[in-house]
Amino acid sequence: MRRSPRTCLLALLALLGGLLTVTATASPAAAAPNFKAPYACGQQWTYSHHSAEVRQALDFVRTDGGGTAGSPVLASAAGTAYRYSQPSGAGNYIAVEHGGGWKTYYFHLAAFSVANGAQVAQGQQIGTTGSTGNSSGAHIHYEQLYNGVGQTIVINGQSLAPYPGSYYGKYLTSDNGCGGGGGKYWVDTFANATGYAAANTADAQGVLNAGTNYVYCKVWGARVGTASQFNHWWLRTDLDVVYAGKNGRNAYVSAYYLSRWGNDEARDNNGTVIPNC
Ligand SMILES: [Zn+2]
Repeated sequence: MRRSPRTCLLALLALLGGLLTVTATASPAAAAPNFKAPYACGQQWTYSHHSAEVRQALDFVRTDGGGTAGSPVLASAAGTAYRYSQPSGAGNYIAVEHGGGWKTYYFHLAAFSVANGAQVAQGQQIGTTGSTGNSSGAHIHYEQLYNGVGQTIVINGQSLAPYPGSYYGKYLTSDNGCGGGGGKYWVDTFANATGYAAANTADAQGVLNAGTNYVYCKVWGARVGTASQFNHWWLRTDLDVVYAGKNGRNAYVSAYYLSRWGNDEARDNNGTVIPNC
């Protein structure tokens, strides 16, 4: 029943011609996931940026007394993990595709902890820290990319810029995985709802029975509802009824079925906005 209220909406402030101030809300489809540190809950690491690097990467080494080499590398947010090897550069590395154009990189791994193409949860171990490839010592080289372009790294909604040029100037303590496998948000649903493989009605997996249910997170997708009552958000959850040959875990149910809240709102029973997946 633990809840961690947080919002993860990106607001863009645009200045036009120096005269007109326009505030625009980023399209929900493009909102970044609520990224967390790429290492275990409670650990403190220091970070630095090497100016020779093209993208907005940060290198992390551990500073809480534990060894950097061999420390678990965790997914910053949920997604699909892909394994790569580049002996002359990134070494063994993982790219996690988060959807909506967002991707994170984890370079120089000593070992992989997941299969290529695996679905991973936020906080799930995807590898161990190492120094493979072009690296002079164990560290996590970490990047956040949007549509293939490196972005200034943001953790829990906080930018880590300006980047320090060397270690031991700035530190970050992780809260990734502190919840022990991903937060659950409790919601009431007013009718039995079909669950699908993705945020659309293409591939039915089973049914989430009406009542009080937990959900993990939300994604923007196909519109469900009537002319006056509708929702584009889809809630990731585990279904009560699973169709033959289908998968009831991490299926998507339309937020249209929430018993309260307005069109295109996705909140839990406390009114907390359910985080993006
Ligand atoms: Zn690096």
